[in-house]
Amino acid sequence: MKKKQFKAESKKLLDMMIHSIYTNKEIFLRELISNASDALDKLSYQGLTDKSIKVNKNNLEIRLIPNKEEKTLTITDNGIGMTKEELEENLGTIAKSGSELFKENMDDKKNMSIIGQFGVGFYSAFMVSDKVKVSSKSIHSDKGYTWISSGADGYTLEECDKKENGTTITLYIKENLEEESYDEFLEEAHLSSLIKKYSDYIHYPIRMTVKSMQEEKEIEEDKTLNSMIPIWHKKKKDVKEEEYNDFYTDKFYDYEKPLHIIQSDVEGRSSYKALLFIPSHAPFDYYSKNYEKGLQLYSRGVLIMEKCSELLPDYFSFVKGIIDSEDISLNISRETLQDNCQIGMIAKSLETKIRKELESILKNNREDYEKFYNDFGMQLKYGIYSSYGMNKEQLQDLLLFYSSKDKKYVTLKEYTEKMIEGQNKIYYACGESLDKIDLLPQVERIKEKYEILYLTNYMDEFVLKTIMNYNSYEFLNIADEKADLDSEEEKDALKKANEESKDMFSEMKEVLDAQVESINFTHKLKNHPVCLTSKGEISVEMEKALKEMPNGENIKAQTIMEINEQHPISKKLKELYQNKKIEELKKYSKVLYAQARLIEGLSIENPTEISNLICELLTK
Ligand code: ADP
Repeated sequence: MKKKQFKAESKKLLDMMIHSIYTNKEIFLRELISNASDALDKLSYQGLTDKSIKVNKNNLEIRLIPNKEEKTLTITDNGIGMTKEELEENLGTIAKSGSELFKENMDDKKNMSIIGQFGVGFYSAFMVSDKVKVSSKSIHSDKGYTWISSGADGYTLEECDKKENGTTITLYIKENLEEESYDEFLEEAHLSSLIKKYSDYIHYPIRMTVKSMQEEKEIEEDKTLNSMIPIWHKKKKDVKEEEYNDFYTDKFYDYEKPLHIIQSDVEGRSSYKALLFIPSHAPFDYYSKNYEKGLQLYSRGVLIMEKCSELLPDYFSFVKGIIDSEDISLNISRETLQDNCQIGMIAKSLETKIRKELESILKNNREDYEKFYNDFGMQLKYGIYSSYGMNKEQLQDLLLFYSSKDKKYVTLKEYTEKMIEGQNKIYYACGESLDKIDLLPQVERIKEKYEILYLTNYMDEFVLKTIMNYNSYEFLNIADEKADLDSEEEKDALKKANEESKDMFSEMKEVLDAQVESINFTHKLKNHPVCLTSKGEISVEMEKALKEMPNGENIKAQTIMEINEQHPISKKLKELYQNKKIEELKKYSKVLYAQARLIEGLSIENPTEISNLICELLTK
């Protein structure tokens, strides 16, 4: 029979499986059992929604049949089964979800540790087998089909006489190698222990016929290998952390254990059990359109929805886990979900629970929280920003910002608690990196007196603008014209100095082609000669961020060029003006403006001209 070819990326993946760079070979069993359990779930679900399909719940099972003579291990289920097309589609190509990313990372062997994320489940069979045979009959078809493959050179697919719906997978176990023993996958005791280790919670019986000697007679006995108690039904104290971790990595395709586990059993107007996980890192697609939030929804241990998005607000979309509630009807549908008040109530209670839990990590385990924040902080910020501040009460105390004083992350609460006498603003500064912000001209003087929050993410300032004020303290960008430390007398003196040099400034401004709103002297700088200050709602950083956004709006910050009145440059400018050296004054103006832009991290439009001007002035 002619062999069909695998799709290119599947072939590569298969090759990797066969030559097993992945050392933990035993997980193949967990993967196949998990597929079988899904197939049983799908069948019971169909039984609920399609009256023409009769499902006898008590018969649903998964069975292991090791055969030492033939050196085969068979895993069989009486689930939904696969049609011919599905066999071809599902086993001939890598599970679609991860395949694009897989292609990108395929050549990087290090990345194989993230194998779980690609959903390569079924192919893991090839880690322990020379040949794999899959016979399946779908509940929707009256014919069965057999798929056989000995690896990357292709597969055959033909009709077979399987009568019962379900799938039977036969693994032709590899010969032992010196450094690797495959025989153990034919041993009853070993299989039994693997089921306990990885698949105990599967809520269908996993059975095996076990031989044993009793009074010198060999007897055969049918044994159920798993306890079938879903892990979320067990009491927290009865479950080892390791079991929760294994359950999480297995179920949610993560290669790292979760950062935090939330387990709760709620009785009341809406009763439910929850087992939630906060991942320790963002999944590869987290900040992409492909990421789907949601929790698995069970009713009395039966899966009714794979990803119920209504249970989580967007700002907690990173949470993974399971909700099991007796109050939810088994045939709830996507359409009725939104109006379902039980779901609404559970969602509300979960939101509070997750928030409290995050607050407690923040309080008790700062290191963990910072790790979490580095990966998911963006989502919390987005939660505030996208709701125009509606969620600010829930989220603002979960935010962290880098402090100029402590040189580490602080919360807004911590900032305001440390405010000094007379301080009535929360100061912040924006820039590309902490180092760059620290060197900003305006930062130098203010940070001597007040703590400044350093914002390095393009969204940060938008978020603060949305929060507007924290505990009635307003936020103030140190680059805002309102940020000054002067006393009333100093302000008056400055005003006078500006008044006196008004005409000089207008000469200087002329050459800058309306790129600045105005030019004036300032006292807010310490050693630096010049800076750009923004006027109004849009800061220079916001202008940059808006430009970067897709279909970015071309909104310009209104800027003021401020010159340090105490700097020798001011004296020089005044001299030039008094001596009527206007052309030269204009050259100085151009150079100063270019400097100010460069310090802000903005580009300059005329680098050659500026460079020539600097040389001209240097060689004078
Ligand atoms: P994943 O389970 O991550 O989707 P797999 O490679 O393990 O990826 O399986 C691919 C698909 O093959 C599954 O999504 C499922 O549709 C189908 N499949 C695998 N095993 C079975 C089975 N025992 N019964 C029915 N369908 C199955």
